[in-house]
Amino acid sequence: IYGGRLASFGPNIFVESQWQPFKAAVDAHLAQTWQANPIISGQQITQDSHQHLTLNNVVAPWNHQVAVGEVVFADAKLAAQAVEAAHQGQDKWQQVSASERAAILKRTADLYEDNYAQLVAMCHKEAGKTLQDSIDEVREAVDFCRYYAEEAERLEQQTHSFTDINGKQVTQKRAPRGTMVCISPWNFPLAIYTGQIMGALAAGNTVVAKPAEQTSLIAYFAAQLMYQAGVPEYALQLVTGAGEVGGALTSSAHIDGVVFTGSTQTAQLINRALHSEERLQQVAELFGDKKPLPILIAETGGQNAMIVDSTALPEQVVKDAVMSAFGSAGQRCSACRILCLQEDVADSVIELLKGNMAQLIVGNPTQVSTDVGPVIDQDAQKGLRAHIEQMRKDDRARIIAQTPISADAAHNLSNSTFVLPTAVEVASIDVIGGEHFGPILHVLRYKAGKLDELIDEINATGYGLTLGIHSRIETVANHIERRTKVGNTYINRNQIGAVVDEQPFGGSGLSGTGPKAGGPRYVARLTQWQTL
Ligand code: NAP
Repeated sequence: IYGGRLASFGPNIFVESQWQPFKAAVDAHLAQTWQANPIISGQQITQDSHQHLTLNNVVAPWNHQVAVGEVVFADAKLAAQAVEAAHQGQDKWQQVSASERAAILKRTADLYEDNYAQLVAMCHKEAGKTLQDSIDEVREAVDFCRYYAEEAERLEQQTHSFTDINGKQVTQKRAPRGTMVCISPWNFPLAIYTGQIMGALAAGNTVVAKPAEQTSLIAYFAAQLMYQAGVPEYALQLVTGAGEVGGALTSSAHIDGVVFTGSTQTAQLINRALHSEERLQQVAELFGDKKPLPILIAETGGQNAMIVDSTALPEQVVKDAVMSAFGSAGQRCSACRILCLQEDVADSVIELLKGNMAQLIVGNPTQVSTDVGPVIDQDAQKGLRAHIEQMRKDDRARIIAQTPISADAAHNLSNSTFVLPTAVEVASIDVIGGEHFGPILHVLRYKAGKLDELIDEINATGYGLTLGIHSRIETVANHIERRTKVGNTYINRNQIGAVVDEQPFGGSGLSGTGPKAGGPRYVARLTQWQTL
């Protein structure tokens, strides 16, 4: 268990008397279906009031016959209304003191705890996450609320007033930036969604939240809890939708920034939209030259390697590589995509890897014993399977292991989105061709004495999110760490997970702009200094 800052919060799954009632509560919620829709200025945008909107049916990724709920998708016009509402609300929200904002964030955390079982069940059912992943996810979301609340209080304390040498009163203080569009991914449908919104609200900005289309139901429920905790209706707008909504939000002249977590390609599109001639023209027409340039905080993809030298402990390497590559069905931005083995130990590590992968249980994520659940949807499944097939045909690649699906999930394969955990040996990193966001681990051998060439090849991908190092020689680990350009390096352990407040998370290069989530610069970046 890597349970986060509040690892003691929630049931202890090893204590029967705590675990059984919790599991029964999760199961009761799993039997439910849910509804979601946009919320603009507190108004629920349903099909009754807006008949032209699309209603999207959500099914469980591990069994498409299991209904999860229905979501009303907004269109571009509603997205524009949501931005307008948040823009109008900015004046009021920035007058709410930082301590009151912090209190609201802390109440949100309390309400998440009160609704722990339902949030876990929703993560499970809508995103297909395993039970342990869902528990960790809710904990991380609670951590974000409490940590960013404390950050808001700390930033307020940085206000500095003094009388200068000429007797003038001077105040330096932090002020909000304005309206932020927060676009969050489906792979952390609660934690990242919550972290973005809470970070922006803590700084005094109003928010238009656009959750991933695949996980709108949990986003809607969490938004209700935020309102219940005291987030004013003018400060948070929710826009569920797909296809046209993201672009409509980020090209709006009224926004002051975008907080985006998703693929590098989409981040690049958003960057262009923010600085497009068309948008700048609109800004000039509406605000003259009085509106500052919007900020973009983008946390994006990775092509993450784990470098293993011949001194590493093979059993530990394999345990950590398997967890990093196949945990959460490989759908973590931090996941290990390339296991780089020094040639002398490669064969023995690969043998152990095959044995370890054979032990994985791939199936229904609601079973406690499941290690690897389904991937999020058919598009993801199609892309990942196509990559495996391409690797099978490529002379420069060789499939070395594939874990079969468990018997209970096998009978329903055509109604689900499983991808078999696969290890494929490749001759070079070029063969892989970018990030493949699922349970596929590439294995690459490197010769003793060629470590620096390997590091150059990894750096040449342009990505820089996570790196794993396995070595029992400290100078080697230090050398690798100094020469690689990544945001988060993990030495002699798995390379996924980052504890809020302890291990700020985020990449460099193509993997992100910073500031790191869960770290001391996050809320600060969403503010600006003012001198009076
Ligand atoms: P994605 O496809 O890049 O993003 C989808 C979201 O972006 C949707 O909400 C979509 O809304 C919006 N969007 C698409 N085109 C847009 C445009 N031109 N302008 C504005 N918004 C637009 O990402 P994903 O597949 O959901 O997420 C997986 C990726 O996230 C992976 O690459 C993973 O590595 C990365 N990730 C990174 C981190 C990190 O911390 N670094 C964490 C988790 C995930 P519409 O459909 O309405 O356009």
